[in-house]
Amino acid sequence: SSFSPVSAPWVHISRVMSQQEQVVHRARSAFRSGKTRSLDFRKLQLKNLLRFLTERSTEIAEALKKDLGKSELATELFEVLGSEGEVLLALEQLDTWAAPRPVEKTLLTFRDQVYVQPQPLGLVLIIGAWNYPWAVTLQPLVGAIAAGNAAVIKPSEVSSHSAKAMEELLPLYLDQELYPVVCGGVSETQDLLRLRWDHIFYTGSSSVGRLVMEAAAAHLTPVTLELGGKSPCYVHHDCNLRVAARRITWGKFVNCGQTCIAPDYVLCDPSIQNQLLQEIQRCIREFYTEDPQSFQDYGRIINQRHFQRIRAMMEADTVAVGGDCDQEDCYISPTVLQDVSPDSKLMQEEIFGPVLPIVPVPGLDQAIQFINDREKPLVLYVFTEDQKVLQRMLAETSSGALVSNDCLVHFTVSELPFGGVGHSGTGSYKGRHTFERLSHLRSVLLKSLSLEAVNSMRYPPHSQSKLRW
Ligand code: NAD
Repeated sequence: SSFSPVSAPWVHISRVMSQQEQVVHRARSAFRSGKTRSLDFRKLQLKNLLRFLTERSTEIAEALKKDLGKSELATELFEVLGSEGEVLLALEQLDTWAAPRPVEKTLLTFRDQVYVQPQPLGLVLIIGAWNYPWAVTLQPLVGAIAAGNAAVIKPSEVSSHSAKAMEELLPLYLDQELYPVVCGGVSETQDLLRLRWDHIFYTGSSSVGRLVMEAAAAHLTPVTLELGGKSPCYVHHDCNLRVAARRITWGKFVNCGQTCIAPDYVLCDPSIQNQLLQEIQRCIREFYTEDPQSFQDYGRIINQRHFQRIRAMMEADTVAVGGDCDQEDCYISPTVLQDVSPDSKLMQEEIFGPVLPIVPVPGLDQAIQFINDREKPLVLYVFTEDQKVLQRMLAETSSGALVSNDCLVHFTVSELPFGGVGHSGTGSYKGRHTFERLSHLRSVLLKSLSLEAVNSMRYPPHSQSKLRW
């Protein structure tokens, strides 16, 4: 009989398995051996992951430099420090997270033990995107290890240097059977998606997210989808535009705009558009010099395909700042466009590059309507000093997160579940939330066989006299 990926994982496999199936089979067997049940084992793996991040930070930085021309600060801040923080938190909190959680009892259960017990789901597939190739795979991995799962990691083939380094180096630190790295492109990912998993944790675009959910449905596998979309940045006319511009410029152009939570576009009152534009221009010069192309802290577009995509997007609009492109070098300078129409090409899909359109809207009501007329974003940024404006944005819109007067910083707070809503994703993670996401919260009620008399009233035949007991 042939191997069917639809069959249960414990059925006998009689045909020769592909290399990929073998890796997955070994990971599942290792999970079933029970070794991840011990919290000490999980902590040891987490410590090894921490050691990996410390000892291999140079290799990580070199790979990111080759993939994305990523600056040292962006590497340190977003890829290494963030992941280290997640490991340290898990090490510190694991005993608490994994402990049974007693719940309130009822009259019928007052003598019983009633609690919620987190338990591992089993085998998790982690598929990552290329823009922060380490953070989007290792941070979910921290939770997968802490929760006692086995996990197969599939880094993005697009950030090929990082994927190769991960495949080579991670197995030197982690249990090789439980946490293998599998490299490959679309067809390898599709092969993986056909297999049976206990959870699929996907980071990438909404269109592929749909395919992941479809594949998962065949096995009723739960998914976490960390997707993207257009995150708006509303700038109210009352705010300090100089400070707002600094924070927006940083959030937009770090990693060359290839950040899922970058402000995609600015919405503002026409009366402040020019001043905001000038302030952003000033910041671009200050942060990246007059010549960003030869400046070490400015990145590159990941590849030619994305370079062409971004360049084509801005063709129809008038550039106010930047707009320089060098195809050979995958370079697009920090670019701002003003008076962009909602119908413009730039406003139809996530930009995911160093191009910031400013879309004038005549007031707060129109800004709220603009946001609500579109898919729910991963994050909504609101720059204002007016509490009423903020309260209305909080109450009248929906997004994965809302941040006022800054950009990106919510990703650094482990207590805040990170994720989208609607088209920007489903499920969230960070810190304890990753642990919960990748655990099954099993309801447990432990009763003894004694005191049977107490139960007599619930058995038929029913009578009033029993109820008076
Ligand atoms: P990508 O092309 O690297 O794809 C992501 C993963 O999906 C890769 O591992 C790839 O192998 C796999 N894949 C691609 N096409 C596939 C297919 N047809 N079938 C099966 N698997 C396939 O990355 P991307 O999608 O270009 O990533 C960019 C997107 O990711 C942006 O929309 C960005 O906003 C989003 N993103 C979201 C987060 C988040 O945390 N929410 C983080 C980073 C990026």
